[in-house]
Amino acid sequence: MGKGHVALVGAGPGHPGLLTQRAKGLIEQADVIVYDRLVSPRILLHARPEALLVYAGKQAACHAMPQRDIEATLIELSHRFDLVVRLKGGDPYVFGRGAEEAEALLRHGVSWEVVPGVTSAVAVPAFAGVPVTIRGVSRSFAVATGHAEDGAIEHAASAKADTLVLLMGVKELGRIARLLVERGVSPETPGVIVEWGTRSRQRKAKGRLGELAEVAKREDIGAPAVIVIGDAVKASGDLAWYETLPRFGDRVAVVASTKQEALKAAEELEAQGAEVGLFTWDLGYRVNRWELTLAVERAVSGAAVGIAFRTTLAVESWFCALAERGVDLRRLSQVRFAALDGYVADAIRRLGIDPDARTLGEIARQKVDEWWVEEVPDVPAERDVYAACRASGAEVRTLALLERRSLPEAPDAVTPHVRTLADVMREWVNEGAINEVLGYGDVQVLRPLGLAYGLEQAIRRADRFAREAERQVCGA
Ligand code: SAH
Repeated sequence: MGKGHVALVGAGPGHPGLLTQRAKGLIEQADVIVYDRLVSPRILLHARPEALLVYAGKQAACHAMPQRDIEATLIELSHRFDLVVRLKGGDPYVFGRGAEEAEALLRHGVSWEVVPGVTSAVAVPAFAGVPVTIRGVSRSFAVATGHAEDGAIEHAASAKADTLVLLMGVKELGRIARLLVERGVSPETPGVIVEWGTRSRQRKAKGRLGELAEVAKREDIGAPAVIVIGDAVKASGDLAWYETLPRFGDRVAVVASTKQEALKAAEELEAQGAEVGLFTWDLGYRVNRWELTLAVERAVSGAAVGIAFRTTLAVESWFCALAERGVDLRRLSQVRFAALDGYVADAIRRLGIDPDARTLGEIARQKVDEWWVEEVPDVPAERDVYAACRASGAEVRTLALLERRSLPEAPDAVTPHVRTLADVMREWVNEGAINEVLGYGDVQVLRPLGLAYGLEQAIRRADRFAREAERQVCGA
């Protein structure tokens, strides 16, 4: 029996607001996440940066991980890790083969649970303006698969409900429609196909049952799509709301130092209907505890030191470490703080301290015995900052508070399926045009980050933001 716990978790249809609290909590804690193709990158961003991500979906031109392999993988991972999240689009038990996975875990004595998700069968029509039931119009709905196996199509066509919701039905829609008509459903029955529902790529096509397959073809609407057939479609003609949001369809990349900053920006944009990708520096880097402790000890020793911070992440970690150690901030009266951009200065101010130096000249004028200059991994050192520190007459050393993260080792069998959050976000970049790139935070950090993801625009924007922030801070 393994030590780990496996949670079969529904990720919802894609929109970040449709993730349950429990799902979010488990994703945030997971050691490993085994996810499917329809799980949106935005949902995966809740993962800890050091979580192992295992992609179990189809790869271009390759086959999906076979179901038996997925089950074996979950069992093996449960032996090695404490919390394994098996993340599936929508609800895990709605055509997601969740039942088979749960049975396998049960058979092997693995501790497990299931977290229901918001199924696309209901949420995608709702985001497209179609309620699956309407009093007096549609009193029942059936959800069926249109996937052509095990007589599923005949089964779908014989569903006895006022509204028929088809998943995986685009390919066989023509056949299903003919069967429905043969069984007495009027070819005039209204229908709608919704592609990529709840995402920025949401598109829909409406038509009568008899022509719906043609309409889908003509308008090039394809999988993944939810098809709804029934009078509820017509009766709800004007209930579209998501597509009317001011920023519906926009894809915005938010580039920031920390996920916390990026999420704050994302939530505002998402409330206006945009889809947001987050590119944050802390996904790839983390605090070096050893260096942090050293820096705290030296600062509270009463020595006259100056600290030149370059990232908000380092500022915040350093102050957290002081608080954890229970340091009375008055003991820092000998310490001088330099912030070379508006965001870092803001971060220091938020902690109740006014930065002593905002320019190279001010750094050179500080009376300290030592200057510590924050070194940022993969970002070139700023020679003029070092020169200004030396000009003050102080000793200069680097402060490597941040370091590159490393990922846990994966079992051999899953290695080819391992992805990083950076891979996931690169896929999001390639999914379609990006309308806007916003930079929040330290330009020094954002410049290489934006470049690594091919978001050249981010750099220009970030410069603009940093300048604006600087102006605000300086009150000019
Ligand atoms: N467990 C999932 C369904 C898995 S079957 C759920 O509860 O939603 C996969 C099918 O779900 C797709 O072929 C498509 O029909 C539908 N689907 C899932 N997400 C979708 C989305 N965002 N937009 C449109 N269809 C979606």
